[in-house]
Amino acid sequence: MIYRVVFSSDAEKQLNKLDKSVRVQIIDYLKTRIEGSTNPRMLGNAMTGDFKGSWRYKVGKYRVICDFKDNICVVQVIKVGHRKNVYDLGGNDMRKKIIAANWKMNMTPAEAARFAGELVPLVDVPEVDVVICAPFVLFGAVWVNAEGTTVALGAQNMHYEDKGAFTGEISADMLSAVQVSHVIIGHSERRQYFNETDCTVNKKVKKALSAGIAPIMCCGESLLQREMGITIEHIRMQIKLGLLDVSAGDAAKVVIAYEPIWAIGTGVTATTAQAEEACAAIRQVLTEIYDKSTADKIRIQYGGSVTPANAAELFAQPNIDGALVGGASLSLDFAKIVEAAK
Ligand code: PEP
Repeated sequence: MIYRVVFSSDAEKQLNKLDKSVRVQIIDYLKTRIEGSTNPRMLGNAMTGDFKGSWRYKVGKYRVICDFKDNICVVQVIKVGHRKNVYDLGGNDMRKKIIAANWKMNMTPAEAARFAGELVPLVDVPEVDVVICAPFVLFGAVWVNAEGTTVALGAQNMHYEDKGAFTGEISADMLSAVQVSHVIIGHSERRQYFNETDCTVNKKVKKALSAGIAPIMCCGESLLQREMGITIEHIRMQIKLGLLDVSAGDAAKVVIAYEPIWAIGTGVTATTAQAEEACAAIRQVLTEIYDKSTADKIRIQYGGSVTPANAAELFAQPNIDGALVGGASLSLDFAKIVEAAK
């Protein structure tokens, strides 16, 4: 198929301001993205190839968006800013739903760039806050696609110290400097395999907040605790210790993820009633620690085998304000989960 490349009038204006080589870079980029063609041919302002959807590409301070439709590739050029403040910390009016992808330890940079290139345009929506929590080395691959969109970049862990001899660790300031706006803290896998405790969770939550990063603080019971009937007591304790010495103003910036350990990566989801019961108990303990108005601002996610099939019912619960998604965030199913939160 032959596509005619059309630059939007705004794109023309932006491009005129840039170095002439940028246009060449864009065309070169388009060539590299032609799939199924070993020898892409440029025919003046036209190109051959099998194109689909929308591509995003960053050139210096500009984002290039290419939309393919009806044999025309419309190119837009948008000037991009710094870390987006869509996560206006503390301004969570009406508890906008927040869906976070936890990619865990998956993908190479090339795979992540390709996947984020497909995913971001599908979840770049104003109605839902979307965060991609990627491994550190994949931040660039995510950000090159997410910058200038509503999609935020998140980390899966950080250290509570500012700097120093902590081999293998990463600080809040380092994350903030590379546009990270959220960080998962105290995920059960970190508690289980890396000895995280409520005490380290608390230190990390406070450090993240001081760096302007919103913590996604995880809590949740094991199967044994559920069977023993101490689920709610256990979660209440995790919340109290995790938020120890966190002011009401700062607490409103925290996202809490309720993740029953027995439901993570197992394909077993808590029933909607179980999830809502736990999330309501979390809001109750937040009311006791702070006050109703603060508790009403804090967003509480459910996490544990969330899929497009169960998402809508979970999100319809009064105390469930979104999801932390593991397995299903590694495919375009994640976009369907975001859709269910609209
Ligand atoms: C998670 O890792 O936080 C998680 C909820 O994983 P999954 O969706 O795969 O259960």
